[in-house]
Amino acid sequence: MISLNNRALLDMPISDFIISSEKVAHVQSGNSAEHALLVLTKTGYSSIPVLDVKYRLQGLLSIKMITEAILGLERIEYDKLASIKVEDVMESEVAYLKTTDTFQRALDLVINHAFLCVVDGEEGTFAGIMTRRVILKQLKKYIYSNEK
Ligand code: AMP
Repeated sequence: MISLNNRALLDMPISDFIISSEKVAHVQSGNSAEHALLVLTKTGYSSIPVLDVKYRLQGLLSIKMITEAILGLERIEYDKLASIKVEDVMESEVAYLKTTDTFQRALDLVINHAFLCVVDGEEGTFAGIMTRRVILKQLKKYIYSNEK
């Protein structure tokens, strides 16, 4: 049985664990699905944030959302890609963190999401992402250091 002062970890601010926005691949809501498919394929990420022109979080986009939009009855209608916009196919109801949130909230949310977008201030400006990988790494470090 591992005994920890859990509060110390749970109350930690998430700010140190954020992958900052300039390192995060994203698309804009007004981009075409064709452009977005290119970004998703080239980066190899399963899902990426969608931002508006003012860098505010609008939602998430995955390859599955795009392919579902161009799936015809008998074939994939690739010719539709250029006319579909990211905002037409993205998921806009997404869980997110604020830069002021604690590790506890991130831990609660990350159970159902591989990564979470982090927003800053009243405007909801995109600050970056926090991944499940980073959270698990931090949790492991904390458990091991408290075991000794
Ligand atoms: P990872 O923990 O690196 O496997 O990342 C999990 C998920 O977070 C990826 O599949 C992406 O959806 C997202 N992600 C991680 N890093 C980035 C990044 N630099 N830019 C965009 N999305 C990312």
